[in-house]
Amino acid sequence: MFSLANKITLVTGAGSGIGAAIAEVFAHAGAHVFVADRDTQGGHATVERIKATKASAEFIALDVTSEGDCERARQTAHNAFGRLDVLVNNAGIGHVGTILQTTAADLDRLYAVNVRGTFSVTKAFLPGMIERKNGVIINLASIGGIVAVRDRLAYCATKFAIVGLTKSIALDHAKQGIRCNCICPGRVETPFVTARLKEYPDPVAAYKEMASTQAIGRMAKPEEIAAAALYLASDEASFMTGSEFVIDGGWSAGK
Ligand code: NAD
Repeated sequence: MFSLANKITLVTGAGSGIGAAIAEVFAHAGAHVFVADRDTQGGHATVERIKATKASAEFIALDVTSEGDCERARQTAHNAFGRLDVLVNNAGIGHVGTILQTTAADLDRLYAVNVRGTFSVTKAFLPGMIERKNGVIINLASIGGIVAVRDRLAYCATKFAIVGLTKSIALDHAKQGIRCNCICPGRVETPFVTARLKEYPDPVAAYKEMASTQAIGRMAKPEEIAAAALYLASDEASFMTGSEFVIDGGWSAGK
């Protein structure tokens, strides 16, 4: 079940957290994984963990805000394999603040990585996928792309945009063999959350509060999100496109 044998895949932001877990589960399912990140050290560490299990991965230096980097990543994948089968737009950054605590520069910074980054990487790889009438795109949105999360104005604005981007790509290219879905996790215990916790006056209280937002009463592990990415990437998800795959421990089920 859920084999990615012979699939060529690329995961952005795969040097840490959810992206690293997706890269590992893809590699173990038989894919070749391009581990793409602006963080060279984190990216190489993911590749080494994958190679230690005799699975297949290589690092690509990629800052998703650079169109030049996106084009170089496309050339690397196409020169080596002539194609990319699965693209995961996972790289993302966060920010804590209401609209009054968010500067225009904060909003631009989040937009550049979360939205324009997803846009640019997809634009680099989509034409090749359309040419072969086969391609899967998975975007990391968030529960903050489904409902508002308190004190996350800029983050929610970008994650709602990713849901829109996902649905537009799905609709426009469904008949060309492209499937595009997004994953909307609740809180996942990664360096992303650790960084946010440091922005609170009482990080211990903030951790408890963050864990309790999920009906399940804890945060997710990155592997619990990677499992959904594996399903979406696989041929078993062949009728799934334009969807928000919500994995939020019951966060959005109600209060
Ligand atoms: P993380 O901070 O652990 O990892 C993010 C990775 O993205 C890092 O390796 C970082 O170097 C990379 N990155 C950042 N900016 C980049 C850029 N410009 N170009 C290339 N790489 C870049 O974060 P995570 O928790 O694993 O989150 C991954 C994705 O999941 C993000 O899009 C995030 O918004 C989303 N998400 C996370 C949570 C959570 O609670 N952790 C919840 C919902 C959604």
